[in-house]
This record gives sequence, C-alpha cells and structure tokens, in this order.
Amino acid sequence: MTTLEQPLVKAVGAKAAKKLAALDLETAGDLLRHYPRRYAQRGELTDLDSLAEGEYVTVMAEVEKVQGRRITRKPGYLLEVTVTDGSGRLTLTFFGKGAHVPERELPPGTRGLFAGKVSFYRAGRGIKRQLVHPEYKAIAGGDSADAAREFAEELIPVYPAGKGLTSWQIADCVRVVLDTADLGADPLPEQLRKGHRLIGLSDAYRGIHRPQDMAEAGRARKRLKWDEAFVLQVALAQRRRAAAELAATPRPPAGAGLLAEFDAMLPFELTEGQRAVGEEIAADLVRTHPMHRLLQGDVGAGKTVVGLRAMLQVVDAGGQAALLAPTEVLAQQHHRSIVAMLGPLAQAGRLGGSEHGTRVALLTGSQGAKARREGLLDAASGAAGIVVGTHALLQEHVQFADLGLVVIDEQHRFGVEQRDALREKATGGRPHVLVMTATPIPRTVAMTVYGDLDTSALTQLPAGRSPIATHVVPAGNRAYWDRAWERIREEAGQGRQAYVVCPRIGDEPAGDVTAGDDDEDEGAEEDESARRPPLAVLDVAPKLTEGPLHGLRVAVLHGRMHSDDKDTVMRRFAAAELDVLVATTVIEVGVDVPNSTVMVVMDADRFGVSQLHQLRGRVGRGRHPGLCLLVTDAVEESKARERLDAVASTLDGFELSRLDLEQRREGDVLGESQSGRRSSLRLLTLLQDEEIIKAARAEASELVAADPELRDHPGLAAELAALVDEERAEYLEKT
Ligand code: ADP
Ligand code: MG
Repeated sequence: MTTLEQPLVKAVGAKAAKKLAALDLETAGDLLRHYPRRYAQRGELTDLDSLAEGEYVTVMAEVEKVQGRRITRKPGYLLEVTVTDGSGRLTLTFFGKGAHVPERELPPGTRGLFAGKVSFYRAGRGIKRQLVHPEYKAIAGGDSADAAREFAEELIPVYPAGKGLTSWQIADCVRVVLDTADLGADPLPEQLRKGHRLIGLSDAYRGIHRPQDMAEAGRARKRLKWDEAFVLQVALAQRRRAAAELAATPRPPAGAGLLAEFDAMLPFELTEGQRAVGEEIAADLVRTHPMHRLLQGDVGAGKTVVGLRAMLQVVDAGGQAALLAPTEVLAQQHHRSIVAMLGPLAQAGRLGGSEHGTRVALLTGSQGAKARREGLLDAASGAAGIVVGTHALLQEHVQFADLGLVVIDEQHRFGVEQRDALREKATGGRPHVLVMTATPIPRTVAMTVYGDLDTSALTQLPAGRSPIATHVVPAGNRAYWDRAWERIREEAGQGRQAYVVCPRIGDEPAGDVTAGDDDEDEGAEEDESARRPPLAVLDVAPKLTEGPLHGLRVAVLHGRMHSDDKDTVMRRFAAAELDVLVATTVIEVGVDVPNSTVMVVMDADRFGVSQLHQLRGRVGRGRHPGLCLLVTDAVEESKARERLDAVASTLDGFELSRLDLEQRREGDVLGESQSGRRSSLRLLTLLQDEEIIKAARAEASELVAADPELRDHPGLAAELAALVDEERAEYLEKT
C-alpha cells in the first residue's frame, strides 16, 4: 500500500520519479492531484490547426504519409511523417539512424498519440506545424490485444506534460498509484457527501484519471472541487472562531466628544451608506471581541471619513487608533487631511486646541530623525490619539500606549502577515481591525481571500460627483496627441490641474528597466524584453515643459524621492501651486485633490486593468468633470488594446476587477494577497464555482461550530494539517 505522503520513487521507480519531480510532483498524493487537462475521445482526432507554437502537446492523429530520405547534411537521414486529423496536418520529424524505428512502426493509416513541443516552419508559401522527435504510441484499431488493454477506456486522459515526459507515461504512473494507494479516511463527512450527492474519494480519483465517460469525469470533478472548497472554508471557519474568542476592550461611543464635534463640523452630509456602515462599525467597537471588518467601496466612495469616524469613537473612549497606508504619499496625505479636517480638534495641548482634542502623529520609513522621534514619542505616550503611517508602523520599536483600533487602507497592498503584525501591538486584548479596499472583489473571492472578515460595502458615490470620460489615444496619431496636451493647457487656463502618469521613473541603471516604481509597488504587469522600455517620468517631464506644456508649473513625483520632497510636492499640488504632476504609480491609490480634472496615462497598456481604474479615480473628484486619456501604441484588436477599451467603456470597478481576474490565473489572484493558498486550488475556480464555495462555507461553519477541534473528523483534520503545512513551508521559503 502506498500512502499519499509517500515519495513517488517507491511506486513508480527512480527514473519516472525524477521526471515527475520536474513537474513538482513529489509524493503519491501530488500525482493523484495532477489532474488531466482534458480527455481525448478514443477515435476522435485532435484539431491540429489549433496547436500553438511552443506548446507541449499530446495529440491523437492518423498517419497519412511517410517519407524517408537520405540527406547530405548530418546525420544523413530524414524521416517526415505527416499526420492528420482529417483536415489539418502536422509533420513529425525524425533525424538519423533512429528514424528507421518510427518509419517501421508508423505505416500510413496508423492512429496514435504523438507528444512533443510544437514548432512552426516555413514551407513554400505557408507555415507548417511540426513536432521534432516526438514520442509516440500507436493505437491499433482494436484488433491488437496490446492496444485494447492499454486503451480499454473510451476516454484517454491528457495530462499537462513537459519535456521528456509524455501524457501516457504520466497516465501509467497514475495507474500504479491508483491501484496501490491507501487514501485513509475520507476528508468529507459522510453526511455532507450524501447531502450534496458527492461520490467517495477513491471513486473520485479513479473517475477523474480513468473515466469511462464524461459523466463520470464530471462527478469526479465536482467531488474534488468540494474537497478544495471545503478544506479551505474549514480553515477559515476555525480562524473566525479563534478570533471570536479573543478578548478586546470595548470602545463605546461617547455622548459628547471628538466624534460629535467632528460630525458637527463636517462640510457635507454623510451618504446613506456611510451612515449605515458607520453604525455597523460603531456597534462592533462596543463588543468585547475584536472587530474584523472589510469595508469595500469603489474609488471615491468616501471610505476615509468612515474610517476616521471609527477612529474618533475609539479616541473618545480613551484608546488610540492607527491608520496604515500602503504608500508614503498616501500616508502623508491622510495625515495632512485628517489634521485639516479635525482643525482645532487635532491641536490638543496647543493654543486654540479643543478641550476634547487629540494629536495626529505621522510615522513613515524615510522621514527625518526628529520628526520620527516626535511621532514615536506621541504614539508611546498616548498623546497622539491617531497615528498615521506606512509599514514603518509595523516595526518592532513602534509602541502604543493603548492601541484600540487598526484601520488598514487599501488592503490589497498588504498581506495577512502584516495585518497580524499590527494586531500584536495592542497590549491588553487585541485591537479592533477595519480593512478598507477600493478593489471591489467578487463575493466568492472575498469569501476565500478575506474569508475570516465580516464585510461591509459602500455602494454609491457621494452625490454631486462629476462623470469621468475615458478615451484610448493611439500614440502614433499626432493630432490626438497634440489635442491631449491642448486639453491640459485649457484646464490649467481655468485654474484646474492634471496628472501625467508614466510606468517608470527613469533613473535606474541601464538595462534595469522593468515597469513600475519599485519603492512603492509592483507597477505594471508583464514585461517583454523585446519591447522598448516604458516611458519614464524623468524623461517625459522635461520634454513636456520644454514642449507642449511650456509655461505651466510642472513637477515630478515618484517613489525614490526623499520623503520631505514628496510631501512638499503633494502639498504644493494640493494647494494648486502646481498645474501638472508627472508621476509614477505612487499616485495610484488614495490621492485626493478634487481640483484635478485631467489624467494622461502614458504607455497605458503597461498597467493592469484595476490599476488603471484606480489611477483614473484621481480625477473627477470635485465639481468639474474628469477626463482620462489612455495613451498607447498597442495596435487595435490586440489583447492589450482590448483591456484599455474595456477600461474606457465602463466606470464600474466591480466589472473591471472581474475582467482583471478572468485574465489572470487563479493562482495569481490568491497568491498575491494570501500566501500558500495557491497550491491548494487546482480545480476550483473562484469566478465560476460560486455555488460550491457558498455551500462549502455554510457546511464548514456548521461543522466547526459542532466540532471545533475536528475530533470526530480525522480525515478532514489530516487534510487541514497538510494545508497549514503547505502554507508554512511557502511562508518560510519567502522569508
Ligand atoms: P475613497 O473611498 O476612494 O478613499 P475618499 O475617502 O478619498 O474616497 O473620498 C473622496 C472624496 O469625497 C474626498 O474628497 C471626501 O472628502 C469626499 N467625500 C466623502 N464623503 C462625502 C460625502 N458624503 N459627500 C460629499 N463628499 C464626500
Ligand atoms: Mg481612500
């Protein structure tokens, strides 16, 4: 018997095990969970015209023509076997003496499986596809006992294969493991299986690897998706349960105090959503267990004021609140705007300060020693009721007198570990936690990635917002191009402001020109080395000031500037002392200057869909309509162009984030914000398996409530332990 943890060597031998290891398959369990990508119908030929260059494929086809000939070049002999699916053709090329074997084994009319890497070559006027030295396996028409035994099933599994390892070799190894594996206790409780009509685990493995028909494969897939969804949801349910058992200090609202004075001073009415979410949060803060809440709201929905009101409630109750921002620019802005909004309320102990007043401290990584010392002191003594900062807040020596609430702005930039690090700072009980994000995530993703949080949403924007018009501007079109700069001049002429965004800073050493501003974030996505380097802030800014924007007040902003310089530039821009800011993605999130109306994004195709939506959210925040121009040299009908057109066609962040998700692999979605989850999802897709995820979540909550330690569910406990191990292993690898 083979257990699932057993290394593959024992079951399949050293040679095969080594090749499987190259596909990251180490144990019997790994191999069983290496599922076929699809199934070839016995007798049904593969569509050869669909094969893409560079792909490792296994195709079923019929030999049409065999042509061997001597050649003068080495190695002296060339065999070309043409196979067909009835319409398309593929050439199998063999060189040298070894070619006599396939020549003998593949007479015209033979059907078989052929595996190798697809390459294209020029032949006459057309392009032909070929496999050079493919592996092959003939399948005789059923009269051969051998073939009948090996391909007894109607469906032949096609595995994701690789160099030196064919799909049928993998199938052979799987067969051995299937026949000898001891799967242990089924992780899905029997009652759950009955209730959702799920087949047993060993039937499922058999059914997915060696199905008799597609219906059987379907039943197997459904069951195995459940495993993935359920184990994950049980882990999250346990996490929620553990959190619910933690103690936190209740922070009840005060009748009179900072919050009441702040509300009275507020220059606008709260939206209905802001008020409702505010009440949810206020109620959470009164409880003796820590709040763990996610607040979603599209760009410009007005999350800051909701977070600030929660902080004021906590300060009124004698505690402190920390606001964690993903970038220094954003932390500085939050600090500035909170101080401004609070006015005299933020001047405790100073002349003219309010009696309820507090102080607002700022802590960032690159601020000067004096300012930093002051911030640290105010946080530790409790003089600052509100401490705003970047990840510098997470450092060990940052101390609070009584941290009651942590607000994390733009969560998608932070991982769970960081969320946890800040929680550790509270003495006496855990702090309440509010996470805010403008990246609207589909519900199923939220249930998975943020499954341990309660969620609230701001669904409308504050009234009086002006629409943002978005246009894609082809870089090659001179007229459009001139018009873009013209628009900026017009707006500036009316006292309004503009952003020009570039993918790169432009001070990196030659050769190191990946897109993005590495101080702050990952920046744009794929980087094809063959393309010209993305446009850079430090190149574009002088060209604009000497050219089309001559005479306007232009400044640059990027992540590698000194902290004070960033602050100065943003202050001047906010005070309308500058007309145009040429910046990297440092302004992507949160930056709030309502007087800016135009944004020009250079090389827009280098940014992701959600990123563009975020960037665009910087304009149209005030009374005047916003304009966003996406400049690109991506050709029409290209993938890149399609994405830009999508961004231009809608202002709905939810729709765009869905699009973003669809274009990425599932693993990337989870891997980005949550370490370790990647490897646990193979069949489950977050966007399509909503039903399963919802049902699994409900079942998991029920089961954990009844049996928190999983004493009665040893199979499940074992799966969970494996998941946690995997996470830990990946976490360790990263650090
Ligand atoms: P986001 O949700 O993107 O973080 P902000 O909190 O930065 O949005 O709010 C965007 C702008 O809207 C800010 O200038 C803020 O002062 C303003 N705002 C917030 N709530 C309201 C409201 N109820 N009515 C009018 N303006 C509001
Ligand atoms: Mg914000």
